[in-house]
Amino acid sequence: MRDQWFFEKTIPEILDESRTSIKIKKKIYSGKSSYQKIEVFDTLVFGRMLVLDRVVQLSQIDEFIYHEMLVHLAMFSHQNPKKVLIIGGGDGGALREVLKHPIEEACVVDIDKKVIEISKKYLPFVSKGAFKNKRAKIFIEDGIKFTKKYKNFFDIIILDSTDPSGLSIGFFHGKFYQDVSRALAENGVLIIQSGCIFEQFLRVKSIYNKLKKIFFEVKIHQACIPSLQCSSEYIFILALKSVSQKPNYKNIKQRYKKLNLDLEYYNPEIHFSSAVLPKYLAKKLNVNT
Ligand code: SAM
Repeated sequence: MRDQWFFEKTIPEILDESRTSIKIKKKIYSGKSSYQKIEVFDTLVFGRMLVLDRVVQLSQIDEFIYHEMLVHLAMFSHQNPKKVLIIGGGDGGALREVLKHPIEEACVVDIDKKVIEISKKYLPFVSKGAFKNKRAKIFIEDGIKFTKKYKNFFDIIILDSTDPSGLSIGFFHGKFYQDVSRALAENGVLIIQSGCIFEQFLRVKSIYNKLKKIFFEVKIHQACIPSLQCSSEYIFILALKSVSQKPNYKNIKQRYKKLNLDLEYYNPEIHFSSAVLPKYLAKKLNVNT
C-alpha cells in the first residue's frame, strides 16, 4: 500500500514556505460540519489526532501537556476559582482538567456541536466522561457573543479556540479582551492558547500587547508540544485582572499538595519556570525580565 501523508495547512500568518507532514496509519473519520472540516487520523508518531480545517488540534501522545498547561496555570493563579468558562474546547480536554478542581461550575461554549460529538465518539480518552459531569454546562454558541452577556461573573476564562480564521478571528481583537475582562470577576484570570513562538510570533506579540493594555499583569508561558507542528515552543498567555490576590510559589505549592491532582506535566515549579524567557525573546516581545 502507498504511504499516506497528512500535510498540515499553512498557518495564516506565514507564507506557503514550509509545511509539516505526518504519516498516517489509518483515516478514522472525515466529514464536514456547518463550520469546518473535521478529521480524525491514527498516526504512527502521535497516535490518534484531531484535525480541523487541516490544522492539528491535538494528539493522543501530548494532549496532556497542552491541556494541563492551559488549565492549571490559570486555576492555580487564582486563590479560589469556582466559576470557569472554556471558550472553544469542544474536544473536552480542558473541561476534563478543570473538573479536577473543586469548582462549582464549568461552562464550555463551542460553536460546533459536531466537534463535541466526534470527539466523544472517536477520542474518548480526551474528555474521559467530563461532558457528563454535573458541574459541566455545555453551550453550542459563538464564544464571542456568549462572553458579552456576562459581567463580573467568571473566576477563570480559558480560550481554547482554533487558530485565527473566519470562525475565531474575533478572539484576536482588543474588543474581545475588553469583553473578557468585563465578564471576569474582580480577581479573574484569563489564559489564551496563543500558538508557536517562531511560526506565529506576530500573533503572540499582538495578543500580548493587547492584553497589556487591559489587564494588570500579563505573562508568557512556554511548553513543548510536538504534535502542534511548531519548530519552537508553544505559548500560553496568562492575564490577571488584579494582582491583589496573586498566589506566590509557597501558596501554589500548598494548594497543589492539598488537592493532590492526578497530573503528568504541570507542577508548581513548572508554573514559574515556564515563564522564564530567553533574553532574545524578552527583547523581541519587549518584556521586562
Ligand atoms: N487545542 C486546539 C488548538 O491547538 O488549536 C484547540 C482545540 S478546540 C477543538 C477548538 C474549538 O474552538 C473547536 O471545537 C471550534 O469549533 C471552536 N471554535 C472556533 N471558533 C469558535 C467560536 N467563535 N465560538 C466558539 N467556539 C469556537
